[in-house]
Amino acid sequence: MNRIAVLTSGGDSPGMNAAVRAVARTCMFNDIECIGVMRGYEGLIEGDFVKLDRPAVGGIIHRGGTILRTARSERFKTVEGRELALKKISEAGIDGLVVIGGDGSFHGAKALHDMGFPTIGIPGTIDNDVTGTDETIGFDTAVNTALDAIMRVRDTASSHDRLFIVEVMGRNAGFLALETAVASGAEYAVVPELPLSIGNLSKLLKRSYDEGKNHTLIILAEGVMSATEMRNKLQDAGGYDARVTVLGYIQRGGHPTSFDVVLATRMGAFATESLLIGKSGVMVGNINHKLVLSDLERAWSEHKSLSPEMLSLINKMN
Ligand code: ADP
Repeated sequence: MNRIAVLTSGGDSPGMNAAVRAVARTCMFNDIECIGVMRGYEGLIEGDFVKLDRPAVGGIIHRGGTILRTARSERFKTVEGRELALKKISEAGIDGLVVIGGDGSFHGAKALHDMGFPTIGIPGTIDNDVTGTDETIGFDTAVNTALDAIMRVRDTASSHDRLFIVEVMGRNAGFLALETAVASGAEYAVVPELPLSIGNLSKLLKRSYDEGKNHTLIILAEGVMSATEMRNKLQDAGGYDARVTVLGYIQRGGHPTSFDVVLATRMGAFATESLLIGKSGVMVGNINHKLVLSDLERAWSEHKSLSPEMLSLINKMN
């Protein structure tokens, strides 16, 4: 291989820039060229390419978002769209592609691999909902950002004897909510993976108030319901007057933690080296602190479960 391209796709996450830099620097180390594709698969179809030389990836390691930008591309979901992309790839003399994104982006990467083009995925999403890796790039940063905001909410919750519901992101998965709840010492984590009974929650709240607890924090995953809906249900069930905080997009922004920068750098280097030795149709994962490759389709076809140990911690600690 003489020229490798890298793109970021789907939702952005902190640490994507560190991964782009790692791909580019590993190419330089191996004396090959690195091309950045702007705006994900949309840029691939349009041939929107930039050269990623040493200065182009200088000073980006700690920047949030993605310098390559990201976009959603409906055209890429069609065979015609992907054929157009392959034409641009061939015209630019690109021999392999690294796709940084979530499981949606990996569908696209797999489709390219199936058309015979060497493609490797790096999991980048704050949701951590990708099978084949313990952590995705951006998850740790999002947990820390949420934690920072929640500690402020906690200060006011304890000063005013209040019940607070904090809604965090995570799409249909509860990884962000559970990790954030354990880290913040929240009393309850409400996640899509577990059935929720408002009646039971209301009873638990009553019991803790009867035992003298004067403030309570519930971390709610967005995939369950909105915080406002939950407040209304708790109001109806037991007359609880909860305050609501929706963290929203602040969880996706900001500079990455050292954990995410290191993970992104390791994964970027490993993905590039794997492409160079002929691997394709696979995703880089970090399992028990070791980098591994697994088939791209595992990312969406196999369910990734929440840790039972983490779930039981919430009950033990509240
Ligand atoms: P994420 O990677 O964050 O899960 P999306 O689900 O939005 O994000 O997917 C990002 C992009 O991946 C889509 O806009 C599309 O271009 C591409 N993609 C998603 N599904 C497919 C598919 N089945 N075939 C080809 N490309 C796809």
